[in-house]
Amino acid sequence: MHASDFLDTKIEYLKGVGPQRAELLRKELGISDFAGLLNHYPFRYVDRSKFHSISNLTEDLPYVQVKGTISRISVHGGKRPSRMTAIVSDGTGQLELVWFKGIRWFRDSIKAGTEYIVFGKPGFFNGRFNMIHPEMEEAAKAEQQMGPSLTGVYSTTEKCRTSGLDSKGIQRLVKTLLLQWKSPLPETLNSDILQRYKLIPLREAITGIHLPAGEQQLAAAQYRLKFDELFFIQLRLLKAKWSRQQAYKGKPVDKIGEVFNVFYNTHLPFELTGAQKRVLKEIRQDMGSGKQMNRLLQGDVGSGKTMVALLSMLMVLDNGYQACLMAPTEILANQHFQSITEALREMDIRVGLLTGSTKSSHRKFLLEELNAGRLQILVGTHALIEDRVQFSNLGLVVIDEQHRFGVQQRARLWKKDELVPHVLVMTATPIPRTLAMTLYGDLDTSVIDELPPGRKPIRTIHRTEDHRLAVFGFLKEEIAKGRQVYIVYPLIEESEKLDYTNLMQGYDTICREFPLPQYQVSIVNGRMKAADKDFEMNRFKEGKAHIMVATTVIEVGVNVPNASVMVIESAERFGLSQLHQLRGRVGRGAEQSFCILMTGSKIGNDARLRMRTMCDTNDGFKIAEVDLELRGPGDLAGTQQSGVLDLQIANLAKDQRILELAREAAIAVLSKDERLMLPENSMLANQLKRMDEADANYSRVS
Ligand code: ADP
Ligand code: MG
Repeated sequence: MHASDFLDTKIEYLKGVGPQRAELLRKELGISDFAGLLNHYPFRYVDRSKFHSISNLTEDLPYVQVKGTISRISVHGGKRPSRMTAIVSDGTGQLELVWFKGIRWFRDSIKAGTEYIVFGKPGFFNGRFNMIHPEMEEAAKAEQQMGPSLTGVYSTTEKCRTSGLDSKGIQRLVKTLLLQWKSPLPETLNSDILQRYKLIPLREAITGIHLPAGEQQLAAAQYRLKFDELFFIQLRLLKAKWSRQQAYKGKPVDKIGEVFNVFYNTHLPFELTGAQKRVLKEIRQDMGSGKQMNRLLQGDVGSGKTMVALLSMLMVLDNGYQACLMAPTEILANQHFQSITEALREMDIRVGLLTGSTKSSHRKFLLEELNAGRLQILVGTHALIEDRVQFSNLGLVVIDEQHRFGVQQRARLWKKDELVPHVLVMTATPIPRTLAMTLYGDLDTSVIDELPPGRKPIRTIHRTEDHRLAVFGFLKEEIAKGRQVYIVYPLIEESEKLDYTNLMQGYDTICREFPLPQYQVSIVNGRMKAADKDFEMNRFKEGKAHIMVATTVIEVGVNVPNASVMVIESAERFGLSQLHQLRGRVGRGAEQSFCILMTGSKIGNDARLRMRTMCDTNDGFKIAEVDLELRGPGDLAGTQQSGVLDLQIANLAKDQRILELAREAAIAVLSKDERLMLPENSMLANQLKRMDEADANYSRVS
């Protein structure tokens, strides 16, 4: 039997599975064959020789193991019992165990007065700790068959659990499978890499990850599998990048001409920062190299990415090409259009704006001008990707993104022409290096690590509801000094209605607290017509309104230097990068700016850490690191659509070192054998092919 035949065997043919459990495994856990089960790694490990004492339990503990004696078993709910409880005591305290399902079976099998090892997630209810549907094992029995002390904990679901597929149940299946698995497993990495990076063989790693003999073997297994995962992601990204560089010549942008020079020498509103200059140089070198540029521009909120984008576009114009700038929202596209038109007002350059709400007659006009090459810069939203948008000679695409454009969409932009345009991707907020390497590993990176001069760091404070009056008092003082204030409410995604109510109630309170005619309050929300939104925004921009009440629509784009206070309501509902992005709306003028995070007095630990991080630092890169640690990459704003981040075992917050080694290894391989044609690299090529096939299948089903 070939290894692959064995691993492809349907899961129902495993001893102990059968059709009903097979269905559950497939539906609930996505496991349909032997390979699927082997790839279902434990998500953590418990040391079976260690027990938690009940008196030390806390609510936010993950799964714990407790050893104690069972008493007071009681079944509630008459003839058709709906709940069973029991108490376990370990001498330090008592813990209530609760069952809602399988009650008859548990009632008959659990014995009072006997010592058990109880495993589960502690919760807190009615003033005491409990554990719902714990895993139970008689202590005496467990001690007899005490094998290695580290045991994997598998993720499972409630439905699986009631059919005996709790963590232990899954582990039993894995054991059965490993015993039965005699056929060899082909290596994915060649011996060169295995040796250089001291990696254990794949087969050993898979056994070790499920049934580690000890800490050391577990660590070796994890290292091997993490390396594997990260290596192939890097290999794939880098190979794509290199072959693209071979395949596509860039449009030569080799001269700096009149447009750029006139603007730079006479209309630039400020001196560029050192970082802006350095990045511009990198861009210029790229675009002049004869290769196509694919560059990621990272910089903190307010670091001046827009000006870098504009200057890059002007370079391209000087060489006879058009340029476009694509933004994630209409508001942001509008804002870019306005600031670019404003910056270029003394110059003879034709700039257009194309969004979803551009009137069709005007759109028709724009598209004709674009096609004829008379329109030089086009700013817009996703509308720019539509097929009918045909440039005459597009030289540069700038994407101002909140990680919202996928690789696919970036690729579509290139297809607008035979010679592909240069691409500059700007992130709205910084992302950690590891994430950038994984998400944008096919791009070169530039970083603006310096803010324009004269900015005072924003002071951030966290206040609870009981300080609201004092906060309002502070706002009045600032307004009396001639400043303006934002008050932002969260978007509640599950309930747009609740969202709206919340905002309108807040608005009422504020209008009462800040009465006319002394105070003018603007409001912007998602239900307003575009014209009304513009009207309200402009009132604030022109300084006619003192306070702007809004949902997160102002998160991007709005630039009102005189606004110096940002109040974020229900701040605990926002993620870190969003809080940072919102805060970046102030601190744009010369005045001392403030950000006030309002929350209830009872907030969870994560929320507390987010508030503390915001108060402690203004550094977007630091904030991004904490965000990654707290939420994991999959939950960072807008990254969900990127399959790259469905990592099985590696952790981008923690495995930075392994990622760097893996990337180094991938570069070493490709620099000797760019197309993976050498025999010693055939296994690498095969693995990439498997990944491509898996992706193709995935996109077919989803
Ligand atoms: P972001 O990087 O967040 O997109 P922007 O490009 O919107 O930042 O720039 C923020 C503000 O800083 C804008 O008002 C811009 O005009 C101003 N700015 C940019 N570069 C400089 C500079 N070198 N000196 C002074 N102000 C600058
Ligand atoms: Mg910007």
